[in-house]
Amino acid sequence: MDFSYTPKEEAFRKEVRDWLDVHMKELPNWWRNPEVMGPEIDSDEYHQFSLWWHKKLYAAGFVGIAWPKEYGGRGATLLEQVVYNEEMAKARAPGPANGLGIGWAGPTIMAYGSEEQKKRFLPKILSAEEHWCQGFSEPEAGSDLANVQTRAVDAGDHYVVNGQKVWTTGGHYSDWAILLVRTDPNAPKHRGLTYLLLDMHSPGVTVRPLRQITGHAEFNEVFLDSVKILKSLQIGETNRGWHIAVGTLAFERSALATTVQRENTFQDLIKVARQVKRHGRPVIEDPLVRQRLAQFHIDIQVLKYTGLRSLTGQLRGDRPGPETLVVNLFGTELNLRMQEFAMEIQGPYSRLMRGSDYAIDNGSWQFSFLSARGTAIASGTLEIKRNVIAERGLGLPRSNR
Ligand SMILES: Cc1cc2nc3c(=O)[nH]c(=O)nc-3n(C[C@H](O)[C@H](O)[C@H](O)COP(=O)(O)OP(=O)(O)OC[C@H]3O[C@@H](n4cnc5c(N)ncnc54)[C@H](O)[C@@H]3O)c2cc1C
Repeated sequence: MDFSYTPKEEAFRKEVRDWLDVHMKELPNWWRNPEVMGPEIDSDEYHQFSLWWHKKLYAAGFVGIAWPKEYGGRGATLLEQVVYNEEMAKARAPGPANGLGIGWAGPTIMAYGSEEQKKRFLPKILSAEEHWCQGFSEPEAGSDLANVQTRAVDAGDHYVVNGQKVWTTGGHYSDWAILLVRTDPNAPKHRGLTYLLLDMHSPGVTVRPLRQITGHAEFNEVFLDSVKILKSLQIGETNRGWHIAVGTLAFERSALATTVQRENTFQDLIKVARQVKRHGRPVIEDPLVRQRLAQFHIDIQVLKYTGLRSLTGQLRGDRPGPETLVVNLFGTELNLRMQEFAMEIQGPYSRLMRGSDYAIDNGSWQFSFLSARGTAIASGTLEIKRNVIAERGLGLPRSNR
């Protein structure tokens, strides 16, 4: 494996760093200082902040780095995208808005959509003029996604769609959704599904927010009541939507994998261990605490080098495969362990939420501890990821699903 970067990639790294040096100063105080309380992440104020920052990134050519220029991207290499991700995470800069569009819907349309669909949708995903969400899960179709029951009936040049989706992140401010529907109820369940693009402003679409464990309402139930979807909004062939949905999930799982964020959490953990005292001494002086911290450091190195193996595969032109899932699984579990450890060393302070005068780092650990549970479920639970690694990575017999 070659760990070095070319002069062109290093020049791009400098460009990103120089840009961040100037623009990080423009971020509000609450972003840069954990002691200062910012707006709730599900508030309109936060959404507007996210759009404001997105526009700056977009104007600088930092959204869709590896996307082709003809669809509004920068036309740079995958490695330049990696360099960019690293620098943004190191600087702890906010990411772009429209994460689902850029990370999931866009790559799917690029891989499986028609030329007309690519031209119509991709530029507006990058500029965040159109926000996207993902309408896959249903009350009876989560891990068993092929069990989708939302029904689309052929009506000539369009489908009539009835059903319900759930856990639709950002559905309340989205303009479009990637939607998995059943077009053939008589076929074996993986073979009767079709992949559609839904205009969320269509008549018959009702969005109801759901409140999660953190107290925020970022997810929704989406009800579809005789919604008309033109066939020109279908991705791929009729009844062949399953393999496209699997493609979307692979993009989703690879987009979630990141080492630098774990490294940031680790550095924050060291600060807390220095700050919190037990029996009058900082907990970082406790040998057992030091051992646990050392193990986190080792795990981050394991994550980093396995991530580089996965990247090597992608540079060869492979689609994200099982090794990407290993990185995602290990990185998610590592984050859960670090978040739990942060609660452990805070002792009684771990009970103090955002808004309490005595909460450490303004209660941000309590928030990240609770929201980390969600990352162990989103894009497939840890158990499902283990099944996929076993079947596709190790060639073990299929589980009884
Ligand atoms: C933060 C977050 C964001 C999300 N965003 C979206 C979104 O934008 N759009 C969307 O469509 N969905 C979204 N989801 C939904 C997510 O994809 C599902 O929650 C997930 O696939 C699990 O499905 P479920 O909740 O129905 O749980 P279930 O499938 O009912 O699983 C319940 C438990 O059974 C276990 N289990 C089930 N089957 C097996 C098996 N075969 N082997 C071993 N164990 C098994 C699971 O691991 C889990 O522990 C989101 C979820 C979260 C937490």
